[in-house]
Formats: sequence, structure tokens, C-alpha cells
Amino acid sequence: MVIVMSPGAAEVELAEVVTAIEAGGGAAFVSRGVARTIVGVVAGEAVLEALDVARLPGVAEVVRITAPYKLVSRENHAHTTTVHVGGVPIGPDTFTLIAGPCAVETPEQTLAAALMARGAGAALLRGGAYKPRTSPYAFQGLGVDGLRILADVRAETGMPVVTEVVDAADVDVVAEYADMLQIGTRNMQNFALLQAVGSIGKPVMLKRGLTATYEEWLMAAEYIAQRGNLDIVLCERGVRSFEPALRNMLDVSAVPMVHAMSHLPIIVDPSHAAGRRDLVVPLARAAIAAGADAVMVDVHPHPETARCDGPQALTDGPLDELAQVVATLPTILGRRSTAPQPA
Ligand code: PEP
Ligand code: MN
Repeated sequence: MVIVMSPGAAEVELAEVVTAIEAGGGAAFVSRGVARTIVGVVAGEAVLEALDVARLPGVAEVVRITAPYKLVSRENHAHTTTVHVGGVPIGPDTFTLIAGPCAVETPEQTLAAALMARGAGAALLRGGAYKPRTSPYAFQGLGVDGLRILADVRAETGMPVVTEVVDAADVDVVAEYADMLQIGTRNMQNFALLQAVGSIGKPVMLKRGLTATYEEWLMAAEYIAQRGNLDIVLCERGVRSFEPALRNMLDVSAVPMVHAMSHLPIIVDPSHAAGRRDLVVPLARAAIAAGADAVMVDVHPHPETARCDGPQALTDGPLDELAQVVATLPTILGRRSTAPQPA
């Protein structure tokens, strides 16, 4: 069961609802979004039947939810949520491009990639300072030095920053610098990490696990929501498949399916799905056509020397082509572009 509080509900009214739930034998989880506060109730069937909270002051609505993911389910909320990242919306009315280097390497490389990203219409800068690498011998990221570089480039370009956190112990420091924290594929079911980002007041991007079902993915999002953070963006980045030609298989169906199952926005990362530059623009086009609320791509000024994922990074021609797609296709589909206006 989910209790939706009225937009103007007072703290004492919220406290009264929580007290009534606990007195009835249930557990209450309060989640505060920008626009509304909701209370998730976990209790047995008999306790839920007996709860009489609809009449309490400040309660707008009581929703019985059958899906196992409750706070993030579509049943809970008819309208797709808009998540604001440093003021940039990701939601149903807009289209946002997120772009930047896979990994932050140097100040010069990060600034050059950010300018390329912004020139292509990206409103948000991505870049990893903590890299979850398959091999322990591969570049693991610059850590806090990388976060500082991202903050400097944000100051220079005005682009809010999306960056990954791989360890619950680093959540506070990453949140100090990031506008949105990314949870990578390999950590989708790192429950301690999910709970840690659920307790910070910053948006979270949750990438789909390598072999995760939609339900497992939404249950992972529920861990974040249950700790009080409803500003979650889901990211489809391809799943393991039998086809060796591709790094991963982009599941375009995830876009309309997640929109049907959840009120959270869903975005697509065609770069990590494809693993190769020539497929990124066609997959981005498919993602936008399928209804993605944003697309996130890797760009790099010198992909041949990139310390991470160079073969998929966009430059020159393919980046110009992406810029063209982003400038035209979302508008045809009724979305307002969040691309920064040229200075
Ligand atoms: C990334 O976005 O840099 C990344 C590591 O992606 P994924 O978790 O999807 O592999
Ligand atoms: Mn990468």
C-alpha cells in the first residue's frame, strides 16, 4: 500500500500517518520527491485491511499496489516522474542528451569532451572517476581527483555532472561533487550501495544489470526509493546475449515496457550496448523513437588513446550525425529538447 500525501501536507500530518501505520502493526517508509511525499506501507494483508488512514488530514490518496515493486510502480503513479538533474529535466515532456568521456583522464581531455558533448546538444556531462572494470589491471579511474576535474569542467561549461559510484563508502564524497550518481550494471544488485544512495538527496541513475529482468531491475530501484529517494532514472545499456558480434544486445523493448511498469523515467546508453562507434547513432535513433527520456553516449577527443572504451566513443562525423538526430527527432515526437542554446 502507498499513501500519497497532499502537496501542502504538514509534517505533523505526515507524523500522524506514520504513527497510525506503526500502531496498526505495519512498517512505514517515507519518500520525499520534489513534488510530493509518499508513504510506503509494508504489512500483512490483515493489517492493511484494518488500516484506516484515508480519513487522516493531509492524505490525498491511498493506493493498493499488487506489483512487488511498490513505490516505483506505475500503479502508484499515473504520470511519468520528471527527475531534475542540476536543473535539467529528464521526463516525459523533454528529451535530454547526456554525453562525455567514459572515464575522466585529464582536465584537458575532460574539458575537450565536455565541449564536444555540449556542441552536440548535451545538457548533462557524464564521466567516470571511479570505474568498475572487469579486469583488476585495467584503469580504475582517478577517484577524488577525477571528481575535482568534473567539478572544474562543470564550472567552466555550466553542464551538470553524472558520475558513477561503485562503493557504498564513497557515496558521500561522490554526492558532494555529482549532480546525479550513477549505479553501474555490475552493481545493480549491490543492495548496500542502493540503500546508501537512497539516503542521499541527489538523483540516481540505475543501470540495468547484465542479465537482469525488468522486475529485478525495478526491485533494485525500489531499494533506493524505500530509503526515501524517489529521484531515480533507469538506464537500459544492453543485456548479455548469444551474439558475439556485439558487446551487449540493446533491449529497445525495455523502453516501452518500463514506461508501462513504472512511473520512473527511462534512458538508453547505446555506447555500452554496442561497444562500437558505428552502431551508436542508429541505436540512439531507435531509443528516441521508442520513447527514451534521454540518451547517454561516450564521446572522446582522442578515442585511439582513451584509457577506457575508446572503440565506442563518438568523434567528428558520427557525433555530428548524433547532433542532427537530437536536434530533429525528439521534436517530431513532441518532446522539447533540453540542448543548451549556443553562447
Ligand atoms: C559506464 O557507463 O561507464 C559503465 C561502466 O557502464 P555499464 O555499467 O553499463 O557497463
Ligand atoms: Mn565505459
